[in-house]
Amino acid sequence: MSATPSVNPPSKLKRFFWGATGRCAVCGKFRITAPWKLDGPRCSRCDFAIERKEGHFIGAVGINTIVTFGAMLIVMVASVALTQPDIPVGRLLIGNAIFVIALSAAFFPISKTLWSAIDLVMIPLEPGEVDPRFDPSEYDADAV
Ligand SMILES: [Zn+2]
Repeated sequence: MSATPSVNPPSKLKRFFWGATGRCAVCGKFRITAPWKLDGPRCSRCDFAIERKEGHFIGAVGINTIVTFGAMLIVMVASVALTQPDIPVGRLLIGNAIFVIALSAAFFPISKTLWSAIDLVMIPLEPGEVDPRFDPSEYDADAV
């Protein structure tokens, strides 16, 4: 807890950016949790619980699924378009399966912090949920 609190509370857009780049949605600290843990600990700077309540990461899994399947669709369409008329179906399926597994594993930590940021916008911080230096009342002043 050596960091100083931000003078101005972060905007919702900034929180979203922090979440999308793997940072804490409250204070912006980078790498707040081990990448592969399902139930993250608390942020070491602001004490924000990465999993705010039980089952919290269903949303993170949903984001990860949407991104992974969206990327898979783009890769499949591009692959088919580029290899016509002799489409190597077997190689495309194997390559796409490897791509999808690697992408979903690599994106999972980001999906957790991104979901935390989205959740924080929908369900504002409550008093006592984070370090008092990051006063929740400062964070919910309709900053956009
Ligand atoms: Zn934090």
